[in-house]
Amino acid sequence: MNILITGGAGFIGSNLAAYHIAQGDSVFVVDDFSSGSIKNIVLLQNSRNFQFAKADILVWDKLNEVTAWSDRIYHMAAIVGVKNVLADPRAVLATNITGTERLFRIISEENQQVQILLASTSEVYGFNPKSSFIESDDIIFKESKSLRWCYAITKLADEYIALAYAINPGLKVAIARLFNTIGPNQTQKHGWVVPSFINQAMRNESITIYGDGSQTRSFCDVRDMIQALDLLVSTPASYGEVVNVGNNHEISILDLAYLVKDRVGSQSEMKFISYKDAYGIQFDDIFHRRPILSKLKQLTGFTPQWTLTETLDFLIQMERKRS
Ligand code: UDP
Repeated sequence: MNILITGGAGFIGSNLAAYHIAQGDSVFVVDDFSSGSIKNIVLLQNSRNFQFAKADILVWDKLNEVTAWSDRIYHMAAIVGVKNVLADPRAVLATNITGTERLFRIISEENQQVQILLASTSEVYGFNPKSSFIESDDIIFKESKSLRWCYAITKLADEYIALAYAINPGLKVAIARLFNTIGPNQTQKHGWVVPSFINQAMRNESITIYGDGSQTRSFCDVRDMIQALDLLVSTPASYGEVVNVGNNHEISILDLAYLVKDRVGSQSEMKFISYKDAYGIQFDDIFHRRPILSKLKQLTGFTPQWTLTETLDFLIQMERKRS
């Protein structure tokens, strides 16, 4: 199978690329390294089945040609990470909305049979105070002065672009709302909590907890995530559907900090930091973010396999090998 992965040098995209190469597929990655990194794909470049272009999907001149070549497209290209979003909201709007619109327009001109996976996010549930989210839940955003919601709004726009093209001309697109994902190639640079905590614990530095640490998250191993995305995009019943993808085991950020400290065997202390100090603004964090996965299971039969402790141990072991 020929597979295009936009944003394929990013954390999830590069894991997807490695998975498909291992299965004997031909993979083309396009990435402008705004969030992704050459380090994530350097080993893949040894494979005959791997091609790469450093380009911005807003202007990439080969997008028509590679779209026509593809049997499947994972559209992962986006500006991500709270810190990046707050630093450059204009780039977020351009890449995440205009880039997606361009891609879907080209697909409908060049290749209406291609399977498409659009990566959306649990952020689209916004400020809905529920503790677990099902796809039919209300989307609630707060006042628009805060650019904090800019990422979620662009991803919601992407969902509507995909839904519109699923109706006319009937593109085969599945929309996945990705919940917190962890695994190899996820960098601390963008402020993600698990690589940050592992790094801090391994150096016996203070573990930085934003707020009081009572906020909860549900972390999905990227190996589960890519399997779920693969299954979803190859299931015709998922076309034109929005589907939660993640792991539904929930943990508070404070408990996560203690778990990481324990698995590393670290001497680190806990350090509580206000959101204002962490992000430079009074930041509205989401209190709970746990997926209800019944739709994913009903469509694909998939349930996640890896426990949080197993994933942490795997990441800690990889980090030890590297240092
Ligand atoms: N967080 C934290 N310390 C850090 C980085 C993040 O306490 O060094 C918190 C953050 O405020 C949030 C949770 O961990 O409540 C998950 O953050 P992340 O950026 O990984 O994902 P998201 O906010 O998108 O769920």
